[in-house]
Amino acid sequence: MSMEEIKTEIENLRKKLNLHSYEYYVLNSPSMSDDEYDNLYRKLKKLEEKYPEYISSDSPTQRVGDKLSNGFNEVIHKERLYSLDNTYSEEEIKAFDSKVKKDLSKNDIEYFCELKIDGLSISLEYENGILKTASTRGDGFRGEDVTSNVRTIKSIPLKLRSPLTIEIRGEVFLPKSEFLMINDERDEEGLNPFANPRNAAAGTLRQLDPKEVRKRNLDAFFYQIVNQNNYDLHSQEESINFLKKIGMKTEPNSEKVNGVNEVIEFWKKWANEKNQLNYAIDGTVIKINDFSYQLELGYTIKSPRWAIAFKFPAEQKETLLKNAVFQVGRLGTITPVADLEPVRIAGTTVKRAVMHNFDYIKEKDLRIGDTVLIEKAGEIIPQIVKSIKEKRTGDEKIIIQPDECPICKGKVGKEKPEDIAIKCLNPVCPAKIEKRIILFVSRGAMDIEGLGEKFIQRMCRAELLKSPVDLYKITENDLYSLGSGIAEKTVKNYMKEIEKSKNMPLHNLLTGLGIPGVGSKTARDIAIHFKTLQQVEAATINDLTDITGIGSEIAKNIVDFFSNPQVLKEIEEIKKFVNTEEFFEESGTALKGKKIVVTGTLDNYTRTEIKNIIQENGGEMSSSVSKNTDYILAGKNPGSKYNKGLSLGVKILSEKDFEKIINNDL
Ligand code: AMP
Ligand code: ZN
Repeated sequence: MSMEEIKTEIENLRKKLNLHSYEYYVLNSPSMSDDEYDNLYRKLKKLEEKYPEYISSDSPTQRVGDKLSNGFNEVIHKERLYSLDNTYSEEEIKAFDSKVKKDLSKNDIEYFCELKIDGLSISLEYENGILKTASTRGDGFRGEDVTSNVRTIKSIPLKLRSPLTIEIRGEVFLPKSEFLMINDERDEEGLNPFANPRNAAAGTLRQLDPKEVRKRNLDAFFYQIVNQNNYDLHSQEESINFLKKIGMKTEPNSEKVNGVNEVIEFWKKWANEKNQLNYAIDGTVIKINDFSYQLELGYTIKSPRWAIAFKFPAEQKETLLKNAVFQVGRLGTITPVADLEPVRIAGTTVKRAVMHNFDYIKEKDLRIGDTVLIEKAGEIIPQIVKSIKEKRTGDEKIIIQPDECPICKGKVGKEKPEDIAIKCLNPVCPAKIEKRIILFVSRGAMDIEGLGEKFIQRMCRAELLKSPVDLYKITENDLYSLGSGIAEKTVKNYMKEIEKSKNMPLHNLLTGLGIPGVGSKTARDIAIHFKTLQQVEAATINDLTDITGIGSEIAKNIVDFFSNPQVLKEIEEIKKFVNTEEFFEESGTALKGKKIVVTGTLDNYTRTEIKNIIQENGGEMSSSVSKNTDYILAGKNPGSKYNKGLSLGVKILSEKDFEKIINNDL
């Protein structure tokens, strides 16, 4: 091939790959299979490696860049990012409408109604169609340059479908399903969960390592063009259509309506149906559709006069804080949890709310016996808003930080002076051991069936188990010695399961070790890369960050973990019993090539577990429904994906159906 031909080939590959991303992530209806995509991607990558002079910033191979060593640069916004005025009631929105009508001397107004996405504002600058800069809002005048992180968001085009120089604004958010999955994983890894999707998205966008950001699967919707007059646009509706045309993802439920009554209908409809969306919304945004009227009304010092946020009332309830209990995590972190008088909020009964740490309790001045106001943060996790001081009788009790571990009575304290959390400092605290063993036997790890939490607790308390490796040393007699209620069947089953687990693939063992930050996906990446546990132990930070998806923070955790003498001693023991080489089970083909979307709450699996099972059986879990989806696995209270699946004729599976398929009974 001549150099000219190579260049053309590279450009063609990019074009095809970018088109696929657009169809897949923006339109939700890909026309190319994933295999085809992977093939083309590999081809492009090879060519670019051979001819690096042709690498360009809009190439799909260039989404993940290097870690930023000096934090984010400042960006001065060319046009200010305004905030929005808020309204919460029909009266207020009617007052807004009256004022607009009066100021414009008009009797009827056309409004463009959008959903208010609960994420973070983002501004993108494209030059000749190529993404140059992405910045956060900051104070509206100056934001932070988060370009390298935003480039990892697959629904954001690196190249527009038209070579425009244009600034576009919208909202970056974390889909609810991702949020739940991340929190499951953080839980598994002994990290504090995020309070709501918005915080998780904000935290993600401020990560210094784009590799970490990419793993989180952020998404974005766009709703505004800066200097829209330059593009011959006359209304918000035209703007949105224009954005779609040039390849930007827009929120699909916006509606043009006439008059304030239809605005109220739109708001009511979404207050009821918001739970069906896979992204959190906290209200609607009402915009005057016609740009000439927008111009006439202008801005206040802080927000446009032609738009207003029409928010949903937060679902809040009062209830009694009956008690504070202290949980001890796998890494010893002591978390205070409020035991509440059960109360129904947004469709579920809330009995507990995490109080995070003792600074939080002090700040909110929470006391036992208080009446507290509860809401669901990001509609998902219950949270205490405040205590109602007026309802105090004087009998309330202050929540005191325990001076000993509630489980082992050992010393508690901060590991480092700057830590917020206090931890049980006893290395052999049974609470920690129990949690470590629970993780070790869990489905994504060594998958030792029939060994429930209660049983593990019982064995720990009888001092049969002091670390996961003890599971392999237990004899039948040890089990019988636990006393009454231990049937022969239980003992035989235990022995059988333990034997089976010795041959689990390396990635399961790595998951089970509980390395901070290493969930099942990362464990799998590591196992594929290093092949044996010995190699993993010997890996340096550089070796580890060579793996796509592993950033320096996790790499450091891994190296630290394997430098701990206690850990090394345990691992030497484990090696005597279990497989420490990579391999993958042959049997996992029941879902080969199948794309599966999960919606609703499953009885038997967390999101991480189901994802693992799908992957282990050769399938792929995807987050959105399209005509290429093979199955929808529907749990309790399925979301809009269920309806979308029905309308596209996708086969819907119950948890039972799913289990039958993976057990090859169907
Ligand atoms: P607030 O943060 O409550 O002042 O609300 C203003 C913010 O709402 C804006 O800065 C945007 O980030 C965000 N927002 C979410 N959805 C929309 C939308 N459809 N139109 C305009 N702003 C939106
Ligand atoms: Zn303890």
